[in-house]
Amino acid sequence: MQFSGNKRRKLKLAGDQKNACYPHSLQFYLQPPSENVSLIEFENMAVDRLKLLKVVENLGVSYVKGTEQYQNKLESEIRKLKFSYRENLEDEYEPRRKDHISHFILRLAYCQSEDLRRWFIQQEMDLLRFRFSILPKDKIQSFLKDSHLQFEAISDAEKTHRDQDIIASSSSGGIKLDLELVYKLTTRSLPTVQSDERLQPLLNHLSHSYTGQDYSAQGNSGKISLDQIDSLAAKSFPPCMRHLHRVLRESHHLRHGGRMQYGLFLKGIGLTLEQALHFWKQEFVKGKMDPDKFDKGYSYNIRHSYGKEGKRTDYTPFSCMKIILTNPPGQGDYHGCPFRHSDPELLKQKLQSYKVSPAGISEILDLVKGSHYQVACQKYFEIIHKVDDCGFSLNHPNQFFFESQRMLAGGKDPKKEPGLPETPQPRPGAAGTPKAREAPSALPALSSSMEVDLEGLEAPSALPALNPSMEVDLEGLEAYFSS
Ligand code: SF4
Repeated sequence: MQFSGNKRRKLKLAGDQKNACYPHSLQFYLQPPSENVSLIEFENMAVDRLKLLKVVENLGVSYVKGTEQYQNKLESEIRKLKFSYRENLEDEYEPRRKDHISHFILRLAYCQSEDLRRWFIQQEMDLLRFRFSILPKDKIQSFLKDSHLQFEAISDAEKTHRDQDIIASSSSGGIKLDLELVYKLTTRSLPTVQSDERLQPLLNHLSHSYTGQDYSAQGNSGKISLDQIDSLAAKSFPPCMRHLHRVLRESHHLRHGGRMQYGLFLKGIGLTLEQALHFWKQEFVKGKMDPDKFDKGYSYNIRHSYGKEGKRTDYTPFSCMKIILTNPPGQGDYHGCPFRHSDPELLKQKLQSYKVSPAGISEILDLVKGSHYQVACQKYFEIIHKVDDCGFSLNHPNQFFFESQRMLAGGKDPKKEPGLPETPQPRPGAAGTPKAREAPSALPALSSSMEVDLEGLEAPSALPALNPSMEVDLEGLEAYFSS
């Protein structure tokens, strides 16, 4: 990958050239993007596509795919995020360019593990299916031709002859043969991602980043008292944190992964450093730990996570993606995401103990079976709060907590209370430009992860070293990963 602070290779295209670049709203691009984009644009495009794919996932489990409601909602989200979707719209160059570049970035970021690949391909397939379905009939053939896809429409006679086979093979369970063109070899045709198998850690964090608010402690600090924690855990903690809290209360100990995950969550909901030291010491001493040993061995780590030791990095609570995709729990660990890391039978028992109804449990287990872990957690949220639609897309355990508190307070938004941050706060080593501070949270999150890395808590990343004013040479990026 190459980064350049002075070389500008922006595409300056006239109208016709722009149209020639992206002749269709849908694209199977044959060439990777080759222009330079700023790091901020690079990040914003990637985050917007992530948001879109999250919407695709949510809609896919909330509505029957292909129905009018599903199509309308998806179209409106695509429009909101300014991606291309309709063939005959005016002024489509920027949305199509964004479609091209953002797909390329996420393709690189999401090919790194089987879990990531499966999730990415599933959402992209659904998005593609929707966009293909609204392509005007007269454009389909030219789209296939321009994409070098050699699909041949079958004749009416063959269509009639093979109608039962065709209906059985259609994903919607039946197609209207009189209206549809049917193609031979109608297999899945997604851009291949195999060539990206050699990806380096450079894009790791993009695939683990999340697309919501920054849930750092700033502004919340001191908003809860220690004697509230037990009742808050039952009412408003997501299952991952509820579980860690219960284990800590019962066994008076948590291993490193659990302490990090739960400690940063508590910090994010408002535990001050003094409260955290008291809380953890009280529990560990109950577990027969010598108070001196706690002071020497553990209080340093707590002060460290509050930015009072070492590099003085103010660590942010972990997002769902980070919990789900990194550092899986081993024997004797209790961290992780129960929807991702628990045996289904154990998850079922846990949900029963949380008084989730049998019907609710079976809905949740179905979502888990389809690898929709965050959507399963959202369903859990809706069940325990007795709402049909929680109205948000879950990305973060602290988001779960704040949304729950907001709902329990009758809709009053705790995020709007004085002192609570609406926008990501700058972090040591994070981008310093005003634009970077306003940008979605991935960049600050990346930087704070880097600080964690340096303390030996995570694998190293190259991204935080980048200056946001620099540009990313997309052509160089492809070459880098192909070499
Ligand atoms: Fe926690 Fe997120 Fe998993 Fe819910 S989906 S249990 S909030 S990690």
